[in-house]
Amino acid sequence: MGSIHTDHSERRTSEVYENRNNLPQTAPEASRTDGHIRFDIGDITKLEVDCIVNAANRSLLGGGGVDGAIHRAAGPKLLAECRTLGGCQTGEAKLTGGYNLKARYVIHTVGPVYRKDDPRCEKLLYSCYRNSLELAKQHGIHTIAFPAISTGVYGYPAEEAAAVALAAVRRWLAENGDYGMEVILSCFNERMYEIYRSVSGKN
Ligand code: ADP
Repeated sequence: MGSIHTDHSERRTSEVYENRNNLPQTAPEASRTDGHIRFDIGDITKLEVDCIVNAANRSLLGGGGVDGAIHRAAGPKLLAECRTLGGCQTGEAKLTGGYNLKARYVIHTVGPVYRKDDPRCEKLLYSCYRNSLELAKQHGIHTIAFPAISTGVYGYPAEEAAAVALAAVRRWLAENGDYGMEVILSCFNERMYEIYRSVSGKN
């Protein structure tokens, strides 16, 4: 099983390289694998994957940050579909089409607004990753890219959020080892990438 997964991961790694952000000077170092997890630097909307995840707000009617970028890249039909969904609770996830994106689907999940010393934040952030992966599996998705949910406007400290994201994804992959999911953790900048590298313990 391990070798099959490794092959799959390596093949996908080279495919996504070619579609990431036209940054050839950084591309050779800017992507690495951790089993089924790959870390990527760049704009998530450019990725050629089955599905990208949106760090949305509860209205699902668009916003700033990665949400705005996804809506701009997908076009107005995405907002039209989102209007039919009736919003989304924090920690939950809903699926739409990807429209003008290369990704066929968008999964919209709502991260928690960070509040120090509130243990619900960690549980809700964990649920975002887990529920998104479950929903992806239900729709036959095999490559999924996540932004660093809640680490922008919602204020979650990046190191803590990276640890939660990695724990959730690793656990889900361990529980679904025979499914063949590749998870890309998309970092918008070098800082987030280095944080993932450090938190994953593989630097
Ligand atoms: P939240 O409201 O959940 O904090 P934000 O969109 O403000 O969501 O930020 C979440 C993360 O997404 C941040 O780390 C931010 O740097 C990152 N981000 C913003 N735009 C993009 C993009 N186009 N591709 C990938 N990540 C992005």
